[in-house]
Amino acid sequence: MSSTLVWLRDDLRLDDNPALVEAATAGDPLTVVYVLDEESPGVRPLGGAVKWWLHHSLEALAADVEAAGSRLLLRRGPADRVVRALAEETGASRVFWNRRYGGPERAVDAGLKEWAAGQDIAASSFQASLMFEPWTVRTGAGGPYKVFTPFWKACLEAPEPRQPLGAPERLPAPARNSSGELPAGEALEDWALLPHRPDWSGGLAAEWTPGEAGARRRLEDFLDGPASEYGTGRDVPGVEGTSRLSPHLRFGEISPFRVWHALRERFPHGAPADVGVFRSELGWREFCWQLLYENPQLATRNYRPEFDDFAWQTPSDAELEAWQQGRTGYPLVDAGMRQLWQTGWMHNRVRMAAASFLVKNLLADWRVGEAWFWDTLVDADAASNPANWQWVAGSGADASPYFRIFNPVTQSKKFDAAGRYLRVFLPELAELEDKAVHEPWKADGAAGGYPEPIVGLPESRARALETYQRLKDG
Ligand code: FAD
Repeated sequence: MSSTLVWLRDDLRLDDNPALVEAATAGDPLTVVYVLDEESPGVRPLGGAVKWWLHHSLEALAADVEAAGSRLLLRRGPADRVVRALAEETGASRVFWNRRYGGPERAVDAGLKEWAAGQDIAASSFQASLMFEPWTVRTGAGGPYKVFTPFWKACLEAPEPRQPLGAPERLPAPARNSSGELPAGEALEDWALLPHRPDWSGGLAAEWTPGEAGARRRLEDFLDGPASEYGTGRDVPGVEGTSRLSPHLRFGEISPFRVWHALRERFPHGAPADVGVFRSELGWREFCWQLLYENPQLATRNYRPEFDDFAWQTPSDAELEAWQQGRTGYPLVDAGMRQLWQTGWMHNRVRMAAASFLVKNLLADWRVGEAWFWDTLVDADAASNPANWQWVAGSGADASPYFRIFNPVTQSKKFDAAGRYLRVFLPELAELEDKAVHEPWKADGAAGGYPEPIVGLPESRARALETYQRLKDG
């Protein structure tokens, strides 16, 4: 008897999951597998916060798959070997997955397709994670866009993203192996994705609900609340002005098509400007993936090769630790870094300020910061993280100009005037007056043990400008 195998990857959902819908339609017994692959060449090992998320997301997915009549099988190992073995074990005549866009992942998928063709197995892939696949958005000359605005304009001129598909009502029962048994899976606990000794995940658990239901709730809350004022609210870290969908999108617990059309339904009479701004943020996600698709080494190599000669300085251990732990003496940077440590997420404006401080005021190589974010963000994304770090450093596509050095004091005065955000994450500063909270070193009396600035802003800014100028002058 033939059976179908669906391999889920960064698409941990039942809703709008074309591979799953196709498999459900086929009607044959169905194996749904997730493979923890830390061994395929070039596949980037997951960071700590993302592992925590993955554990809970898989738990939620397993329950949803079971409720729909099938079972989520967990296997670990190099994905091509694991998927081949499972296809053989279950006598699969069809293997389905949703497409991925990273270099090593594409190599695995291409290898599997080739293998399947030789075995008379129909391997089919589907579009699920990006609304505009990289090869479909091309300049007039046929190349990839290097600047966001024309990229997004081209996307908006393309046919509108398709309607999301509903979740299959029932999934066919799981496939059995030749002995009539269900294929053996591994226990999620054995993957040791959760931190222990110490367990630092309490703040993450308090903030997030990984899984498809949690993602849908976030979307509803966003549509009911901040969406209609997103254009201004998104820049204010002290309010819930953004969607916080990023980790859910990272794991594919919600599809960008679903988000896109939910906005359309909520605002049926044309998009207010705020919705357009939000859509363009989804566009940045697509742009980052296009950059990674074209530059598979985006996390390790400068997008602009002239930056290979840039004179990065190795930060001292004390400087790096101060940045990582939120003890630089600059409240906005420190509040952001502590938000990251406590909740696995940081507000976008603060990410820009914290990243700029590391690569410009401390002149650290952007890869140092990218690696820290990779390990600590719950939304750590193979495309968005390096693309944004390179954007801040000036080495990336459509990058922030080298002379744009975020001033953390000016930024917090502008976007967190009353220090609402600062006070949440910097209890030492809770009692300071609004004016003093941005520059505690100027305040009368000690600010509860809060550190002095580790570098002066004017000097470090001048040093950065000089170093960038030297690169420019060749
Ligand atoms: P919203 O403002 O609600 O935006 C909606 C969605 O649009 C986000 O969920 C995200 O998927 C996408 N988006 C928004 N801004 C960007 C952007 N600049 N680039 C790409 N996609 C964007 N985002 C990640 O998802 N993963 C990362 O690893 C990541 N690393 C970053 C590193 C640095 C140094 C910087 C400056 C930004 C980084 N971002 C990253 C982008 C951005 O900060 C987050 O996507 C955003 O803060 C997530 O919050 P939200 O879901 O509330 O965003």
